[in-house]
Amino acid sequence: MRGYLIAGNWKMNGSKAANAKLTREILAGWADTASVRLLVCPPYPYLGILAETLSGTPVALGAQNVSQHASGAYTGEVSPGMLKDMACEFVIVGHSERRALMGESSDIVAEKFAAAISAGLRPILCVGETLEEREQDRTEAVIDEQLDAVLDRAGIEAFDSAVIAYEPVWAIGTGRTASPQQAQDVHRHIRSRLAARNAEIAEATQILYGGSVKGDNAAGLFTMPDIDGGLIGGASLKAGDFLAIAAAAASLG
Ligand code: PEP
Repeated sequence: MRGYLIAGNWKMNGSKAANAKLTREILAGWADTASVRLLVCPPYPYLGILAETLSGTPVALGAQNVSQHASGAYTGEVSPGMLKDMACEFVIVGHSERRALMGESSDIVAEKFAAAISAGLRPILCVGETLEEREQDRTEAVIDEQLDAVLDRAGIEAFDSAVIAYEPVWAIGTGRTASPQQAQDVHRHIRSRLAARNAEIAEATQILYGGSVKGDNAAGLFTMPDIDGGLIGGASLKAGDFLAIAAAAASLG
């Protein structure tokens, strides 16, 4: 039983006051549910405050990025150990915005993923194709390359704790969602790619879908057999929207 994970990627949004309100509303509207876990990933400066607010609650804390280095002269970077120290359980690695805007290659993503695992964090590895790649029928090839870089470096055993998020780039922040069947096809492919290395780990690995998930399309996606929750951008910034997605998962759990 994999259960659902509903993860909010707040990206570079929020403030002390806005985050306090959002967190208060999420906590007030959420009852601990065995089949669904909630996670929020605020910007770095707010991790300390969120760690205190969320301590002892059913909502987990994660970061949006991490350095591949443990310490040293890397101005502006944040190490996996620091995130662990700030009570993060999860960290997003390889988000398409970082791949595209910050030039993170699959090798760098794999280094970050391995460093996160070594520090005891649970990485959420984002993979996904652009519209052009989909139209050229290269979706699976692109995902294989992104996934294999991590599997080759960190090993399949890392997926005892790691999570994967399939996020078609064309669906992120665009209001355009993959259909449940389109998403399921890719999730199935990802799971079989993991299964080629270890069937038991593949079966237990949570694979989230991300890309314009909202309260009204969440249940259709989560009902698919290989979709184990969502990585939510825009809709994670409003408690009501985020909770509606979580409620959709809970209704299926
Ligand atoms: C994301 O950036 O991870 C994401 C899925 O964003 P949105 O939900 O806004 O499409």
